[in-house]
Amino acid sequence: MGDAMTTAPSPELDRLVEGYRRFRETAWTPRRERWARLREGQNPEVMIIACSDSRVDPAQIFDVDPGEMFVVRNVAAMVPPFETAPGHHGVSAALEFAVQVLGVKEIIVMGHGMCGGCRAALTQELHGAEPGEGGFIADWIAMLDEVRAPIAATLGTTGRPAERAMEEAGVKVSLANLRTFPCIRRKERDGTLKLRGAFFAISDGVLHLLDESSGRFEAVE
Ligand SMILES: [Zn+2]
Repeated sequence: MGDAMTTAPSPELDRLVEGYRRFRETAWTPRRERWARLREGQNPEVMIIACSDSRVDPAQIFDVDPGEMFVVRNVAAMVPPFETAPGHHGVSAALEFAVQVLGVKEIIVMGHGMCGGCRAALTQELHGAEPGEGGFIADWIAMLDEVRAPIAATLGTTGRPAERAMEEAGVKVSLANLRTFPCIRRKERDGTLKLRGAFFAISDGVLHLLDESSGRFEAVE
């Protein structure tokens, strides 16, 4: 059964295999030395937390090589707060690994334009949905409820200005939640770890960086 499932042809898999062959030819074979070095281990200096959205691949946006960036992607690029409640804490496990084992020097939280997760947080359209029917998303993006209220009150719950405000606020929530992790707070305080907020605008492909003193996202020249 396993074989039948994995080898059954599909146009989707064909496209991927074609891409894989291009990768072997243009990226792997000419750079075999680099891959040989990576076989010994990884030593990325940056961790990035980004959205799962198919349009915002951090490795592509920052044009980095394999081994350079430790990546977590999830709905709306969220970091949950430090919680010890039972459950499977995937983001927290990745953070622990990046910070304590790999010793990354920077953690970047990157939000993006036209984020479906942020939009759903704003409209609350999945509110009350059953797990598996939207309930997991609703629960996940409920992390944005607190920042949603003032945005909804001033900009409403639909339209780009409200959505953009939500997308930017989401990055700030994740940064604040990062700072609830004792190991992260300690390393940031002693200067061995930097936290940064970023925003990638899909419409014009422009990267913005958060200036935490002003709370504004400034376009990168
Ligand atoms: Zn998104």
